[in-house]
Amino acid sequence: MKVIIVGGGIGGLAAAVAFHQRGWRVEVLERAPAFTEIGAGLSIQPNGLRALDQLGLGDALRSGGLADPLAGIRRANGSWLIRNDVDDLKRRFGQWVTVHRAALVDLLRTALPEEALRPGSQVRDVRPDGTVHHSGGTTAADLVVGADGVHSVTRRSLWPDVPGPRYVGYTTWRLIVPPHPVEGSVETWGRGQRFGHVPMPEGSVYCYLMANAPLNSRTGLEQLRTRFAGWHGPIPALLDSARPDAVLQHDTYELPKLRAYFAGKVALLGDAAHAMTPNLGQGACQALEDAVTLAATVDALGVGAGLAEYDRTRRPRTQLIAHRSRQVGAPAHWAWPPLTALRDAALPRLPSAFFERSITPAYTWTP
Ligand SMILES: Cc1cc2nc3c(=O)[nH]c(=O)nc-3n(C[C@H](O)[C@H](O)[C@H](O)COP(=O)(O)OP(=O)(O)OC[C@H]3O[C@@H](n4cnc5c(N)ncnc54)[C@H](O)[C@@H]3O)c2cc1C
Repeated sequence: MKVIIVGGGIGGLAAAVAFHQRGWRVEVLERAPAFTEIGAGLSIQPNGLRALDQLGLGDALRSGGLADPLAGIRRANGSWLIRNDVDDLKRRFGQWVTVHRAALVDLLRTALPEEALRPGSQVRDVRPDGTVHHSGGTTAADLVVGADGVHSVTRRSLWPDVPGPRYVGYTTWRLIVPPHPVEGSVETWGRGQRFGHVPMPEGSVYCYLMANAPLNSRTGLEQLRTRFAGWHGPIPALLDSARPDAVLQHDTYELPKLRAYFAGKVALLGDAAHAMTPNLGQGACQALEDAVTLAATVDALGVGAGLAEYDRTRRPRTQLIAHRSRQVGAPAHWAWPPLTALRDAALPRLPSAFFERSITPAYTWTP
């Protein structure tokens, strides 16, 4: 049996590994000239690690160093809005790791035979009968997996009339700065903007910044330093130590709910199926879950019944997590001072069970 994977990001490569390990012939069509990722960090949470364990790759990631879950959320003056018991989270849900994105892509890529990888192949159109038109010609397979991200050509080919991704109103900057002492993984909320920092295993610090902004507006490092200048330490120091060319800015998109994750012999996975806001840090973890589930169901049940089962198990779960992710991030982007004052007064009084309700379904997944 042969599968064509459109897109060699984390989701596509994980699916390729899962099918390869089940004896399928695999072809990964990636438009970029090489298989790599942007220079940012990535948190792989307990459910994502369990999916990687299915591929025999979880321990390789853990050996780079374990991480802590989010320790809490602070106000811009440094006082705590929410504090998490990180030891309790790890005891109940499992392990976390933080990695360079490129390290995870390398780990997946090297689990595949070289002949499965087709960089420089831009897919133009995908047919439900399993035919794929791309820059190198036309190929057909028993199964096609659209793992081509939020602006998926596969999705547009199958459902040209379905609404595309929508901008959620805030833009994101990501950067990795040189080693600096930080107190775990922490997020800080202001009015319509926030700052998060996550220690990387080798000491450098992955920072993400988000702010309400019109679509396509661009801001450089100097403006970010000014914007966060009055915030608690070590935020200004982290930005001072950054190199301008380390800053990556992307607008944040979310995909409206799809009514199916497959048509004919074609399945969607990862951001192509359910691009979500990054608030729960679950997008890649869900793509990993999709990948191992898709290979297991299709391999066991055949393409027709397997795709129906994949859709039945994955669509409700990923759409629930996308919904929760949107909900938990919304108050961070409130900008009207009376509303943020109310938020800042209310959050410290809420019981921890209130927050755990949002995250528990994500972490408790088992293959
Ligand atoms: C700020 C931010 C922080 C995040 N943090 C986390 C986190 O900590 N943890 C987590 O789990 N998730 C996180 N996410 C989400 C995560 O990054 C994504 O969900 C994940 O990378 C999606 O992987 P994917 O393989 O589905 O898509 P992508 O990574 O978008 O990969 C798609 C691939 O398809 C290729 N492609 C596209 N079109 C074509 C075409 N026509 N032909 C051939 N190839 C094509 C692209 O070049 C790309 O390589 C974050 C997201 C953001 C924005």
